[in-house]
Amino acid sequence: WKYAPPSLAALAQIARGHGDKTFVVYEDERVSYESWFRATATLADHLRAVGIAKGDRVALAMRNLPEWPVAFFAIVSIGAIAVPLNAWWTGGELAYGIADSGAKLLIADAERLDRIMPHLDDLSSLQAMLISRSTGGLPDRATRLEDVVGSPPAYGELADADLPVTDIHPDDAATIFYTSGTTGNPKGALGSHRNMTTNIMTSAYAGVRSCLRRGEAPPTPEPAVMLTVIPLFHVTACSAGMTGIMFGGSTMVFMHKWDPQKALEIIERERVTATGGVPTIAWQLIEHPDRDKYDLSSLKSISYGGAPSAPELVRKIREVFGALPGNGWGMTETMATVTSHTAEDYLNRPDSCGPAVPVCDLKIVDADGVTEMPVGEVGELWARGPQIVKGYWNKPEATAATFVDGWVRTGDLARLDGEGFCYIVDRAKDMIIRGGENIYSSEVENALYDHPAVTDAALIGLPHRTLGEEPAAIVHLAPGTSASEAELQAWVRERLAAFKVPVRIVFCEETLPRNANGKILKKDLAGLFG
Ligand code: ATP
Ligand code: MG
Repeated sequence: WKYAPPSLAALAQIARGHGDKTFVVYEDERVSYESWFRATATLADHLRAVGIAKGDRVALAMRNLPEWPVAFFAIVSIGAIAVPLNAWWTGGELAYGIADSGAKLLIADAERLDRIMPHLDDLSSLQAMLISRSTGGLPDRATRLEDVVGSPPAYGELADADLPVTDIHPDDAATIFYTSGTTGNPKGALGSHRNMTTNIMTSAYAGVRSCLRRGEAPPTPEPAVMLTVIPLFHVTACSAGMTGIMFGGSTMVFMHKWDPQKALEIIERERVTATGGVPTIAWQLIEHPDRDKYDLSSLKSISYGGAPSAPELVRKIREVFGALPGNGWGMTETMATVTSHTAEDYLNRPDSCGPAVPVCDLKIVDADGVTEMPVGEVGELWARGPQIVKGYWNKPEATAATFVDGWVRTGDLARLDGEGFCYIVDRAKDMIIRGGENIYSSEVENALYDHPAVTDAALIGLPHRTLGEEPAAIVHLAPGTSASEAELQAWVRERLAAFKVPVRIVFCEETLPRNANGKILKKDLAGLFG
């Protein structure tokens, strides 16, 4: 299987053929495919030399640095399991990820090491650490990553590097990505080589299908310059982003930290063709007061997913950038993309996240977990396909509850239209039930987004003695605009049934608080209502 996709090791071999093309740009560093490959092969040899074998877990805790794809592909190329940890996590949370996965080795940047240090004594599985970009002293068991692979761009001396020969089967485990923890503790989704590489192929084909639907010939793919602003520890950035980019010989541009002003500078300087990730990124670029000062004409597409987005965003992206908006739905358990669409499909259905990618099936199931709902009716979204993981790491009960007969129960409420386009209406756990009437967040949020002043909105349920719950909203207004609570309530009342009108609306100066994956932290918002 060494050269046979779908295996991530095979992808790495394919990428090697891209030679001196730029793979990663980070601040003033540029890493070619060749130097990335040399470093990866060198690190893979090192991992084996220190006793990492097939099936062993290696945790990865760093921000988006050029070392990230080196570490990731070195780990998976020897058949070990990469465990990317959320770089926003506290020391305790990072320690949880290391202990939960039973990682033998940790590859981290200096910032993450500082956070983990107080917990090191409790991490019995951990035998060694490779630390990147550290200027200070290192604890026992730690080695500088640069001492193993050299620092970019002059990685290693390996002139004709090859990845080690490992017997990797497409169904072998390759990754443990943690869910975002929006509804409970993060769970590790155990993904295979096949899961990840299927995602690249189906995502590529989804674009072709979209052209065929419009009766157009699919365009010849051109290498992209992708401003990768979402973190690589999230499966979307890694699976749909990094591995897809690598497959096509394109370039990823990393930022040290998300900053819209800097992003605009980088788009102009690097002639970035694609960006996005989560809807907030697009909004922040649109709303930036200095946007018109930059030449953003290279930008061809802005795609996102991972969180609900305002239908209004689709038109804005078209108007402001002349770029193609794209939306996709997925979850950690599906190794990212299950539905996606762009261009006219999306412009005509701005509240949909698209049809299923080829090879995936969707169905809408009633609360009984058995009955399939008719077209157009809301129920739980179930998905099936070769990119869906088999289960959670070490969580047999959660696995049994979520993965049923080859389907994953997504926990999202959705409907499908007659053409198979999917409309997410809420998370089952967020749905508000007011005196027996269901209120879906997205319906009320979208009504608020329709108001010209509103650019960010979240609906939550407030406890009520007799009704159970009542809807309340938190909104953020575009700079320089104004709207009162009563005006927004009247606006919603004109559009939706009276029981859906938020009984209270509070205004947030900033855009709403989100986690690393762009999801509004609804659990934290109830406090705003006192
Ligand atoms: P946890 O499962 O730990 O509670 P999480 O579900 O937020 O966290 P992820 O796997 O990162 O963890 O997110 C998947 C969820 O993100 C989906 O179930 C869905 O609710 C939401 N989502 C993803 N894409 C979209 C989209 N395009 N539109 C609306 N919601 C989306
Ligand atoms: Mg989830």
